[in-house]
Amino acid sequence: MRKKIVAGNWKMNMTFDEGQTLTSEILNMMKDEHSGDAIAVLNPPFPHIYPVKKLIGEAKGVFIGAQNCSDKESGAYTGEVSTKILASFGVQYVIIGHSERREYFKESNEMLAAKVKLALAEGLIPIFCCGESLEIRTSGTHEPNVKFQLTEGLFDLSPEDFSKIVIAYEPIWAIGTGKTASSEEAQDMHAALRRHIASKYGKDIAENTSILYGGSCNPKNAQELFGKPDVDGGLIGGASLKSRDFVDIIKSF
Ligand code: 13P
Repeated sequence: MRKKIVAGNWKMNMTFDEGQTLTSEILNMMKDEHSGDAIAVLNPPFPHIYPVKKLIGEAKGVFIGAQNCSDKESGAYTGEVSTKILASFGVQYVIIGHSERREYFKESNEMLAAKVKLALAEGLIPIFCCGESLEIRTSGTHEPNVKFQLTEGLFDLSPEDFSKIVIAYEPIWAIGTGKTASSEEAQDMHAALRRHIASKYGKDIAENTSILYGGSCNPKNAQELFGKPDVDGGLIGGASLKSRDFVDIIKSF
């Protein structure tokens, strides 16, 4: 059975105090209101990781993730953070290949494949992002385009390693724009990605891979999106910065 996951990507937001307040509120609401089997993954900026993890403590169904990691193992790479360092701080998940990293920081498929391997070597679960621009969507080539991102970033992995991966489909035109993909558009792409995984790794692994949707997901549209058979949760940006919205999205399953 694949996991239902709602991951919050705080991006470059939240001071120390704001992050502590947000986390405490999420934990309290989850404890009081959440009885489902969906799990939450909080992905704050690096300096928050340790204090947020301490707040989470032994809370059930809440995990800590990073938004990025280095594609190098260790050494003289000023400003970078390795998967080994992340793992030593108890980090459990890491977002890899977010479109903002691909676009603004010129991260190539090759770099992303290296990051995925380093993450897996340290026992971190990669949340591997893929998604097309508006230009590609309009041209109608979105499916082969997004499948190619998976092939390049992940299809070098052994079946055993691939089965640990979480995928997040985030159409770039839906990120931060308030323009969500329709639940049908999300379902179509998720099903296509699952077929693509099955063609490489077989039906069992494909059926057990969690594929999350990201892009203007909010408490109003989450239920419809998560109701689709191949949508296993969400990667949430803006709405993950508001405890009420984030927990309501988790409760949408
Ligand atoms: P928004 O939810 O703000 O559209 O961001 C989505 C995203 O990029 C999550 O990684």
